[in-house]
Amino acid sequence: MDDAKREQYYVLFEKMVDNMVVVKDFSREDLVKTLSEICELFHIAKGVTEFYRSAGREKLGDGEVMVDYDNGRAEKVVLSKRVESMSGAIIKGTLYMANDDFLDNEELQKVDVMLRALMAFISRNRLSKAIVQVGFNDEMGYPNFRAFMRFLERAQDDGEISEYTAIRFNLKQFSVVNQDIGRDNADVAMRRYFHLVETVIEDDGIACRIGGDNFAAVFKKDLLGSILEILRGVPVVYDKEHRRRIYISASVGVYEIPGDFGDTHIREVMDRVSSAEAVAKRADTGYVIFYDAELRKQRDNMMRIRRMFPRALGNGEFVVYYQPKVNIRTGQIVGTEALCRWVRDGRVIPPMEFIPIIEQTTEICDLDFYVLDRACKDLRAWLDTHETGVRASVNLSRKHLLDTDLLEHILQIIDRNQVPHEYIEIELTETTTDVRFKDLRRVAQGLQQAGIRTSVDDFGMGYSSLNLIREIDWDVLKIDRSFLPKDEEAAGSITSIMFRHVVSMAQAMGLECIAEGVETENQIKCLLDNNCEIAQGFYFDKPLPKEEFEAKLEEGKYEINW
Ligand code: C2E
Ligand code: MG
Ligand code: MG
Repeated sequence: MDDAKREQYYVLFEKMVDNMVVVKDFSREDLVKTLSEICELFHIAKGVTEFYRSAGREKLGDGEVMVDYDNGRAEKVVLSKRVESMSGAIIKGTLYMANDDFLDNEELQKVDVMLRALMAFISRNRLSKAIVQVGFNDEMGYPNFRAFMRFLERAQDDGEISEYTAIRFNLKQFSVVNQDIGRDNADVAMRRYFHLVETVIEDDGIACRIGGDNFAAVFKKDLLGSILEILRGVPVVYDKEHRRRIYISASVGVYEIPGDFGDTHIREVMDRVSSAEAVAKRADTGYVIFYDAELRKQRDNMMRIRRMFPRALGNGEFVVYYQPKVNIRTGQIVGTEALCRWVRDGRVIPPMEFIPIIEQTTEICDLDFYVLDRACKDLRAWLDTHETGVRASVNLSRKHLLDTDLLEHILQIIDRNQVPHEYIEIELTETTTDVRFKDLRRVAQGLQQAGIRTSVDDFGMGYSSLNLIREIDWDVLKIDRSFLPKDEEAAGSITSIMFRHVVSMAQAMGLECIAEGVETENQIKCLLDNNCEIAQGFYFDKPLPKEEFEAKLEEGKYEINW
């Protein structure tokens, strides 16, 4: 080996090492080019590397064989190496020459070093690919949330984050799709749908599966239109043979990352698309919600309420109001509903402003138990001072259905306050999912067995109403005010017809009927005509502070003049 050749070898070897250690922009072509130059320098005719995941696979010939250089003159093997990596993978390297070419000792040694470096590189490279495969994909092969976050982090490091739009989406009614076409077909449909989105994004972003039928994506801003077209809904083929298709759509939260996003924590991207998506899921109109100033205000408000809640509960800021339930034939107060108010800095905050927020977590249960406890204390006091008590109903959020000891908790509170069970009524609203339905039945039955009355609140608002009263024995049906005919409505209007039949159906089933939201005398007449005797509504009174309600209770009845 002469000096010039040696010199050239060192240059090429260094180049090869350079090619192999660049991590980010690794180019296979550059490496192969360098290897070819080395082969030419040493008159190597052909270089082959092989990779097998295990010795077993090697035997079966099931691996990756790469011919990195071949000038067509290979006749004899001059060097052959086989190594087993720590993970049990097999890497082989073989070099060939023409019959009349040869390597001297020093040359052989240098080629040997080169080959070993190459094989070490291959084994490490394959290993990191395997790590990427495991670490950045989920069990079904979708890129996972970590891949999504890594993409965002890199975009932020490169100062390019504001070129992107992030979305989060949830497939609509996918449990129904699962039921309709079966899990396997639904998996195929989901994958195809996801692939449609991926195809639009190509290398300009990444789409990932967060879990279940929840996905997220980030992509260059100009792609949003095309992606939303897919997410608004498209038919997806799930059975190629029979050309069967199913319509899939999604609710979407969108966050167009602004120019001033800067160094804001990358987690914020996810928080923002998530809160937009949560609104999109609930929205009746449109399925796409953008994260904007209005939404930000809502979100800040929500966070504030969640943060303040525990202390407010401890401070006694929640107050129970009572709305009378009146027998409209006699004017008698026959019951009351306990409704909570948040009194903060002198302002009375109505439940619609905070219950839906607190209801997103199980903290609502603390509030409900608090209200039940207050109501029991008041009931006890009324029983002690008035000869006749009045039954009070308390609302229980659906979140309670998760609590397996719910019944014990309720009884504990009632018994601790020494209130006879017949004075308590629990109002529950309908639920839409089957699972919860079973829980609902269990809870309703348990309460009844303990002598506590149960009522269906807001009957007619949901979808499963009829099933609900067929499958579960309730004591009371509270007909939602949307079923109550408005004053200007003709007697033969659909609402009037439905109201009449709902009342008579409930009564035929032995349920007590109560109309909610009664505001006018005409509505009272309508109730009288239809034999619905109990009413709750502004016509008599709004929910009243405890003392005001007690004054009413003292009077015992409302004046009636019909
Ligand atoms: P809800 O249980 O259906 O309670 C009846 C609601 O209708 C009350 O609203 C009441 O003020 C209102 N209302 C009564 N009469 C009339 C009327 O004539 N016209 C109109 N327009 N409205 C009338 P409120 O007190 O604002 O409570 C709203 C909802 O918040 C309740 O609906 C209930 O679902 C929930 N809520 C209230 N307190 C609690 C609680 O302690 N726990 C839970 N989980 N939910 C509660
Ligand atoms: Mg209620
Ligand atoms: Mg109601």
